[in-house]
Amino acid sequence: MVARPPSKRPRKPAGRPRRRDLPALLLDIHDRLLAAYGPQGWWPGDGPMETIFGAILVQNTSWGGAEKALRNLKAAGALSPQAIRDMPEDELAALIRPSGYFKSKARKLKAMAAHLATHGDDVGRWRERDAKELRAELLGVWGIGPETADDIVLYAAHLPSFVMDAYTVRIVDRLGIQPAKRTYEGYQALFEANLPVDVALWNEYHALLDAHARLTCKKRAPLCGACAVRDVCTEGRRPDSAG
Ligand code: SF4
Repeated sequence: MVARPPSKRPRKPAGRPRRRDLPALLLDIHDRLLAAYGPQGWWPGDGPMETIFGAILVQNTSWGGAEKALRNLKAAGALSPQAIRDMPEDELAALIRPSGYFKSKARKLKAMAAHLATHGDDVGRWRERDAKELRAELLGVWGIGPETADDIVLYAAHLPSFVMDAYTVRIVDRLGIQPAKRTYEGYQALFEANLPVDVALWNEYHALLDAHARLTCKKRAPLCGACAVRDVCTEGRRPDSAG
């Protein structure tokens, strides 16, 4: 290999990455998180119906609570759209109590089960749909917001829709690459516009960001000293950052 002469250009001062550097930076961050945490195997659960109902049950709670609610539904033979439609709402609410907000979530499950009936309870053909069109349709179901719709589009229909959540917003802000529009769609566009459209990549990336926020980039005391992306992080490079 021919050695390159040292560059005469002054080094770019550390700071906010330029917009045109974002595609490479985002892929680099993905690769480092993958090396640090390994493949996450999302979505946890069995089949598209479990993913759809799990995406509702995990709203405003941890996956542990949602998982207990799913286990209760399974044990009661109620983890299907038909069973959810047939079950009285108060019985359904009692089964999903561990997920919190169980009364409104029971109503949301019923609204989604009613919507699934309009597809003959068959979501296999959702894979052939346009992602944005399916997302818009799901947003029309009572109780389905952007994050839940994106969870369903990405993890149940296996179509490209980058999932945004509070964890990802926290990491993006600390990295110093926040979008100009600090809305759900603004943060989502940061990833969607700068990454290859690749369902497997987007699936893994969201799961890795979740792991990173839980295990390292914690809300109150981020473990910057043990962070795989510290050298590209505005917050991590501050002299007073942890570690
Ligand atoms: S360096 Fe610190 S603030 Fe930055 S991503 Fe890592 S853990 Fe979060």
